[in-house]
Amino acid sequence: MAEILQRYDVIVIGAGLAGMRAALEVDPRLSCAVISKVYPVRSHSVAAQGGINAALDPEDNWKDHAFDTIKGSDYLADQDAAELMCEDAPRVVYEMEHWGTFFSRRPDGRIAQRSFGGQGYPRACYAADKTGRALYQTLFEQSVRRNITVLKEFFVMSLATVEDQVAGVVCLEIRTGAVVGIAAKAVIFATGGAGMLYLRTTNPYINTGDGMAIAYRAGVALKDMEFVQFHPTTLPGMNVLITEGARGEGAYLYNRDHERFMVNYAEKLMEVAPRDIVSRAIETEINQGRGFDGGYVLLDLRHLGENVIKHRLSEIYDFAITYKGINPVQEPVPVQPGQHYMMGGIATNKYAETTLVGFYAAGECAAVSVHGANRLGANSLLDTLVFGRWAGIQASKFVQSNPGVEFPTEALRTQSALIRELKSRHGAEPYGPIRRALRETMTTKVGTFRDAERLRQALDAIEELEERYQRAGIHDRGDIFNYDLIGFIETGFLIDLGKVVTTGALMRQESRGAHARTDYPHRDDQKFLIHYLFSPNSRGQLSKTEEPVVITHYEPKERKY
Ligand SMILES: Cc1cc2nc3c(=O)[nH]c(=O)nc-3n(C[C@H](O)[C@H](O)[C@H](O)COP(=O)(O)OP(=O)(O)OC[C@H]3O[C@@H](n4cnc5c(N)ncnc54)[C@H](O)[C@@H]3O)c2cc1C
Repeated sequence: MAEILQRYDVIVIGAGLAGMRAALEVDPRLSCAVISKVYPVRSHSVAAQGGINAALDPEDNWKDHAFDTIKGSDYLADQDAAELMCEDAPRVVYEMEHWGTFFSRRPDGRIAQRSFGGQGYPRACYAADKTGRALYQTLFEQSVRRNITVLKEFFVMSLATVEDQVAGVVCLEIRTGAVVGIAAKAVIFATGGAGMLYLRTTNPYINTGDGMAIAYRAGVALKDMEFVQFHPTTLPGMNVLITEGARGEGAYLYNRDHERFMVNYAEKLMEVAPRDIVSRAIETEINQGRGFDGGYVLLDLRHLGENVIKHRLSEIYDFAITYKGINPVQEPVPVQPGQHYMMGGIATNKYAETTLVGFYAAGECAAVSVHGANRLGANSLLDTLVFGRWAGIQASKFVQSNPGVEFPTEALRTQSALIRELKSRHGAEPYGPIRRALRETMTTKVGTFRDAERLRQALDAIEELEERYQRAGIHDRGDIFNYDLIGFIETGFLIDLGKVVTTGALMRQESRGAHARTDYPHRDDQKFLIHYLFSPNSRGQLSKTEEPVVITHYEPKERKY
């Protein structure tokens, strides 16, 4: 049965750092709920390891942080947004400290900071290699103190809109299988990334890009989607992340000839060059036969000493032993690149506003864009807290001056009918192989290195998968905890996103940041210093618009490290 379950002034979809931070900023006089498809502490934010950037030291400067971010982005970041984020960073870190985050410390008691890729100064604040967990615990405690309602295990399927204004969301209550509407005057999406587009990813199974696809289907454009980050160091097999903090602390990368090969790719910064450069270097070493069988190179931490490894990198010490049976104090660790982060997402301005009235987005699901073509390590946690807060501020302001629109009940009927029809399909192909084929296609054809031929093949393959998906079905016809049904819906979201990523990658005939075209190896500012925005047209096909990149103080230059 479909019904409107609850009404709020503001709802936040996503209980990761961005969502929690947004909810904490919503005016306490307004009613607010956070909705999450999993228990909040299972959000991916909790897994963040290495750090959060802020120019805290008197010798450092937020403008240098902004410059590093913009150069790291290969000049695609909107510079006003990057400046806003970097200037706000020290306030964010001290706010978290005052709320209770246990950061690691320097001997004099100040917050410890380490080097991270592409940064001209060691400015990643950290809590050992469990920074996400430390930050998350703090926000979770604050949310309990503020008595914020969290609707756990509610799976959002669609946005309810009336013309160009948001009215709430339609969810599946996972425990009961009921399709319910949650009405709200303002809706904030903080639904995280889409790592499940790829086979090799550091992301968990829940990162299926739902929010991006839902917004896209509701007509809100997705921006910069062709830029997908591959993290250089993940453990082969499960692709568990080995934090950049390891290289920040001084770890070396070696090929099978025992050469510190980064000297050939980024002479100055070596292992702490930005991620796009290090990932491409590793892939090149492997492709040219200087990797190890099984496709990896070695990360050597031994010279850092047992104390640093066991205390500042304790989690990856455990991971290497648990997943590979390798003690990094004694042996180098095998590593290979894996999908890690989506630079693109729901197009917003620097105050988290979208083109849909009353609808905001923040965190990894959004593209502000502060990361442009390549995000610097330790800038995402910062992004979640800076723009999560802005989403909360703007949503509150909006609700205070806007009565909202009535929840359209046909939004509920549409989703209920879809599920009913799906449960009545018999003899249909299971969707599992379709999802797997999509991830394979993205991994082999829309990965670190790209070219027109493979991108076209990928697009054809995805369109074929889309057709198969229309006819596919589910096994479990029950109501209670039907994860088969959820997997089916998520697969549909992934197909939409795969199409957008691949189309953007095909159209962008240049190499910039994480988007490396072997057939167009150079950056082309004449033609491509622009953002691509994709939304569906009236026939459901992709339509592209372009937006200029905001340039304030930093003229695009060649990017050398
Ligand atoms: C292993 C790892 C380590 C990292 N380390 C760092 C680091 O050290 N520094 C750094 O800056 N960045 C790091 N990152 C990146 C950073 O952690 C993430 O980009 C960031 O935490 C994302 O936060 P978020 O709040 O946007 O989303 P998430 O934390 O991913 O939360 C998403 C939320 O949305 C909810 N949701 C999604 N879809 C639905 C739906 N359909 N219905 C209801 N709810 C839904 C989920 O339940 C979840 O609560 C790391 C990432 C990974 C994978």
